[in-house]
Amino acid sequence: MPELPEIETIKIELQKKIIGSKLTKIQILSPKSLQNEKGQPFDYAQGLQGRKVLNIWRRAKILGIDLSSSLRDHEVAKQSSTDNNEIARNDKKVTLLFHLKMSGQLVWKGKRGKGKEESFIGGHPTEDMLGKMPNIHTRVIFSFADGSHLYFNDLRRFGWVKVVRSEKCKVQSEEVLGKLGPEPLEKGFIWQILKTNLLKHKTQVVKVALMDQTVVAGIGNIYASEALFNAKIDPRTKVSQLTDRQIQSLHQGVLRALRDGIKYGGSTRAHFVDAQGHKGYFLDYAYVYGRSGHKCKICGAQIKKIQQAGRGTYLCPSCQR
Ligand SMILES: [Zn+2]
Repeated sequence: MPELPEIETIKIELQKKIIGSKLTKIQILSPKSLQNEKGQPFDYAQGLQGRKVLNIWRRAKILGIDLSSSLRDHEVAKQSSTDNNEIARNDKKVTLLFHLKMSGQLVWKGKRGKGKEESFIGGHPTEDMLGKMPNIHTRVIFSFADGSHLYFNDLRRFGWVKVVRSEKCKVQSEEVLGKLGPEPLEKGFIWQILKTNLLKHKTQVVKVALMDQTVVAGIGNIYASEALFNAKIDPRTKVSQLTDRQIQSLHQGVLRALRDGIKYGGSTRAHFVDAQGHKGYFLDYAYVYGRSGHKCKICGAQIKKIQQAGRGTYLCPSCQR
């Protein structure tokens, strides 16, 4: 499942590629994948066409694309529900929210002027992500005036794109975005906040508590394992047994794991090279995740994989005591 660094990587890349672009066409290949905020199918694609991309942002694992109010006259789609007509009123800004869940992926393809075709892939890695687009897992296609396309692919269809009023998105973010803990990369996230939030889950083991989205937003299986390795804490330690010093190390460990993830372009294995010549693959740099049986990069001991709450946890039994 894509985590905070994967979504942050998509945000950074898409900001370079589509801010200022005009949305010319939206093709809905799977009605379930494009929704309004109530989770009903959003079937009023023409209400989004002609809008410009104003901004791209991230909250936890959710990516937001803000669109301008419409430049065209308001035309009500008769076949569309009143809700959808209301959301996409031409005088109001709308936001597209993306949640990739288990298997979502975003692929952007386009040309800059007369240059070569460029592409960017983010999210869940799949075998077919380097092939032709759209493919059988493409659910929604967003086309822009400059000839580029953004493909929302989702193998298992748990992911979604929601169309919401921008004003609602900011004012009542909990209603639209769900209940989320603090953003770990923002200044206000200090170790005492991590402590307070962890202590609401005293009886849990620290790895499981760290993946709770209300403790800290955006951390899943990969970065929880890495953060605990960075902090030299055994993932089986109960939250109630952690000392203040360990929570301080864990706070630093979380920041380091996420920053490294973003620095190395997330965990989507991509063989293509982007316009800047960067190749994205964090897992080549990971200390423990996905490395069971290999030697610890710090002490040389063998990395172990254990099961916790149905998920694999990776650890170095020697570094993490
Ligand atoms: Zn080690």
